[in-house]
Amino acid sequence: MDRSTLSRRGFCLCCLCSAAFAVEGWLSPRQVFAKARGIVDTIRDAAAAAEIKVYSLRGNVSVLEGSGGNVAVLTGSDGQLLVDAGIAVSRENMAKALASLGADPTKHLINTHWHFDHADGNEWLHAQGASIIAQENTRKHLTAAQRVEDWDYNFPPAPAGAIPADVFDTDHVIDLNGSRLALKYYGPAHTDGDISVRFTNQDIFHAGDTYWNGIYPFIDYSTGGNIDGMIRAADANLAATTDETIIIPGHGHPVSKRSELKDYSDMLTTIRANIAELKKQGRSLEEIIVAKPTARFDAKWGQFVIGPSFFTKLVFEGV
Ligand SMILES: [Zn+2]
Repeated sequence: MDRSTLSRRGFCLCCLCSAAFAVEGWLSPRQVFAKARGIVDTIRDAAAAAEIKVYSLRGNVSVLEGSGGNVAVLTGSDGQLLVDAGIAVSRENMAKALASLGADPTKHLINTHWHFDHADGNEWLHAQGASIIAQENTRKHLTAAQRVEDWDYNFPPAPAGAIPADVFDTDHVIDLNGSRLALKYYGPAHTDGDISVRFTNQDIFHAGDTYWNGIYPFIDYSTGGNIDGMIRAADANLAATTDETIIIPGHGHPVSKRSELKDYSDMLTTIRANIAELKKQGRSLEEIIVAKPTARFDAKWGQFVIGPSFFTKLVFEGV
């Protein structure tokens, strides 16, 4: 696999970062933990160096890649609306990218979940005039200190301006810029606060981090995520989309489609079954990692931040 292929898949377009992440090989659980250490800082540093790439999708909707999670933007006279905020270190490049989409000020921000690579930009965007909305568990996590065990990282509470002022429980509709947005809570999946955002007029669907396009996903057990919730969310995403729908994943190439989502769903289901079977036989995590339950998927899916051993551990935790 060449570098350009890798760089399209990851958190950023930075080749340095891709090279650093590219080869996990097979690690022991101890090595997996060691590798997880430093992921947050590495992702942040990569965003600081990355260019922001702008993809025009359909109608007045675009997607920005390069500042952590993929950021969708709806433009119009009611002001720009963003789905996710990226990482604050790339503020200058984000501001440039947003300005390239027109002079409308950024007035609305939706967080798909609380993770720093999606909500770290909340504070500066709020200071520029954006009101923030999220599922209520996302506000809960941003309001208090959080530890993500599998990243070995402690996050302080977000600053006051970064806290979503509006929250909802299961469903919420927003009408602006001549478009209707439908926000929907998944239930526990990647965290316990994930939502999807459907741009109904444009048939565009942002799945947040319930969908990683072409790469193994992270699952945050520390704040309520689990593998079965991820599989349920993938099913919900398949049910909510058609072959015409443009699907925006949380990570990976930002312009995706239902056939790729189906591959992702099949990957999750197969690997979950493989690992559950081995665990049922009484095998330890270390033994299961050696048995390579993800082997048939690794060439395609295991080339980035979450390698085969780490993903095996994340699934093992939940079965
Ligand atoms: Zn996330």
